[in-house]
Amino acid sequence: MRETPPEVPRHYGYGLLHQALPRHEQWLVVTMPEPWQIASRQFAATPAHVHHVTSMDEEQIERTTQSLPSIDGVLGIGGGSCMDFAKYVAWKRQIPCILAPSIVSVDACLTDAIAVRRQGRVHYLGQVYPAAVLVDFELICQAPPELNRAGAGDILSIHTALFDWQLAHRHNNEPYFPEIADQSRALLHTLFTHADAIREATPEGIQILMELFRAEVHLCYQAGSSRPEEGSEHFWAYNLEYRVRRPFVHGDLIALGVLLMSALQENDLPGIKARIQDLGLRYTPEALQIPEDALRDSLITAHDYSVEDQLNFSILNVRPVDEQLATHLIASAR
Ligand SMILES: [Zn+2]
Repeated sequence: MRETPPEVPRHYGYGLLHQALPRHEQWLVVTMPEPWQIASRQFAATPAHVHHVTSMDEEQIERTTQSLPSIDGVLGIGGGSCMDFAKYVAWKRQIPCILAPSIVSVDACLTDAIAVRRQGRVHYLGQVYPAAVLVDFELICQAPPELNRAGAGDILSIHTALFDWQLAHRHNNEPYFPEIADQSRALLHTLFTHADAIREATPEGIQILMELFRAEVHLCYQAGSSRPEEGSEHFWAYNLEYRVRRPFVHGDLIALGVLLMSALQENDLPGIKARIQDLGLRYTPEALQIPEDALRDSLITAHDYSVEDQLNFSILNVRPVDEQLATHLIASAR
């Protein structure tokens, strides 16, 4: 077990972007049109450069990063892609970065690794600790509440991830830390206790989600892996995204993954389903617009995907999914 990671300062409040750019420095803003339209009104000074993220393909990110002018720092404003892109630039250029999420749909602003796509597959690389995370309620509360409450998905995944971790410990003697598992389970409990505030995406709910992300990132750091929060529910989701080649609201997709994998693990499906419904996540295949045959396919091939991508050992390695079982899992998750 490792010690705690460097603390990323988190600031909560209104109007935090006003003075976000250091004076007399050349900073790049990495964003997308929608969050930028809202955020740019807050700025006291115009940033030296603004880049709009269009793709998370690694080659394209690298080309863009190389073509950027000389800059002193990077400020990411937006969803997960903007956070990851800003982290990539900061990592490659070895410059400071500040992150201002416009939604709390993923934990990307608090993790040190950068998620990119390589031929449609998710890969994590680099290591970046932001100088600060600005949680500006003025910005975040303008996002549709369903996008903010979706952030719960990356905490919910603890439910299935811990099961897989224990399974890997029993089958493969993988290192397992019960105290980290207990602390992770406590995060689930906190999430459920504050389901109302999170579902309504109130400032209080947003702050609770962010602090849960921070605690979860710390636990993963101590465990030396993402075992406490990433297991078969994420592996299945990566496979589905790879196969259908379109983006999803990460947390909603992960919520469906938690249900499907809870069914496969035989791991308190009714209990976790009630909690997911309390949180108001849009997890059904219909809401996510996943055709039934694509969904069935993604379950049958998830094991091969996890082997090809050398993902961690999970229930997918233990319980093969055929057509019949896939149909049963889908019916149970509804
Ligand atoms: Zn995730």
